[in-house]
Amino acid sequence: MTRLVISGGSVLSPSGAAEADVLVDGERISALAAPGSEAAAAWAAGADRVFDASGRYVLPGGIDVHTHMEMPFGGTFSADTFETGTRAAAWGGTTTIIDFAVQAKGTTLLATLDKWHSKADGNCVVDYGFHMIVSDVNDTSLKEMESCIDAGVNSFKMFMAYPGVFYATDGEILRAMAKAAETGAVIMMHAENGIAIDQLVARALAEGKTDPVQHGLTRPPELEAEATHRAIVLAQVTGSPLYVVHLSAEQALAEVAAARDTGQNVFAETCPQYLYLSLDDLARPGFEGAKYVASPPLRPREHQGSLWRGLRTNDLSVVSTDHCPFCFKDQKELGRGDFSKIPNGMPGVEHRMDLLHQGVAAGELSLARWVEVASTTPARMFGLYPRKGIIAPGADADIVIYDPRATQTLSAATHHMNVDYSAYEGLPITGQVQTVLSRGQVVIDGGEYHGRTGHGQYLVRGLSQYLR
Ligand SMILES: [Zn+2]
Repeated sequence: MTRLVISGGSVLSPSGAAEADVLVDGERISALAAPGSEAAAAWAAGADRVFDASGRYVLPGGIDVHTHMEMPFGGTFSADTFETGTRAAAWGGTTTIIDFAVQAKGTTLLATLDKWHSKADGNCVVDYGFHMIVSDVNDTSLKEMESCIDAGVNSFKMFMAYPGVFYATDGEILRAMAKAAETGAVIMMHAENGIAIDQLVARALAEGKTDPVQHGLTRPPELEAEATHRAIVLAQVTGSPLYVVHLSAEQALAEVAAARDTGQNVFAETCPQYLYLSLDDLARPGFEGAKYVASPPLRPREHQGSLWRGLRTNDLSVVSTDHCPFCFKDQKELGRGDFSKIPNGMPGVEHRMDLLHQGVAAGELSLARWVEVASTTPARMFGLYPRKGIIAPGADADIVIYDPRATQTLSAATHHMNVDYSAYEGLPITGQVQTVLSRGQVVIDGGEYHGRTGHGQYLVRGLSQYLR
């Protein structure tokens, strides 16, 4: 069994930073010891390799619970495969993804799960799990939710947006939530009022307003807040846990915060694009705004402060990416002359850890909170803890050695995602990944890729550990 020692680093967890040496035996972390102790010296002497982490952070690998690899959307597919997407994730210090299996109308959940396994199995560089998108609520699919849970998929995403595609009625949501309440599963919600939005979109197009910025203007924050509120009420009535995905608007956050204040099992995530980008990017000249089309849309800059505050107060518990890349050429271009035909989604799986560390550098987040929202809480929220999300004996050796003083500039020229633009082109970042281990295997080290396609394993997840 390979023995690795990570020496002299500052080990991060939700309780803060502690100086410790970390011993890895095979795929797992076996022990921590005080630097300079007899135990640490003995480990180093007998190790196959010692990583010098002095002046560096040693943190649990990032967990991105919201990705869409090779996802079908509007006649095309998101541009990253499970292979290219998990490789890019590893470059940025993310060692677990949870991707969405997408039920097509008229198909079963179990056939959908099989299909997503056939896309991912043997192709991932780091470990992965699945959520299930339920787009066809009927007696069969409700019953199949139980089989999904047995297969390690216990989070089910529904849409209040996209009528005619993924949209679920309040009645369908209620039925799925009742099943979730009965089984301990979590309902994840895309909360935007799609029925109203479609009318605003039709009106804009009829008035000849076709530019990408219209994508943002026809999906106002009020319609995210309204749907968020409605989802919370449906969850309350059924007793279902609710996890609001990609929350973007201050008004929606207020709804989540109010529900949490009552003790309801309501949680929410946001994404780096809502913390760093804004409606101004959607309004870039020409067709460039198409790069920034995702739903919910980027909001006016004023929302960003509320989102950072929500992360500090835990009204926002998780930061995921909603990584769903479409190339500018040939894919985003499908919407030239009609913003409603621009594929929805942005690349980001590679840069989440860095963008959040930038938040630490800017004083928005503490170090402890960085690790918590990027790794530990995602693990606990989706039933992976303590196997993932913590540097502790017995945990998988998914470890990132991070240099907080390195500087880098984000760019499509240097990123590893299979997409022809960066949403953060030219953005300077303080901090950079130095080394990444996935279950004890070196994937990234010193600016080089050492990983292996197929190393990543499917994760059978347990129930959320936050429910009361
Ligand atoms: Zn998504």
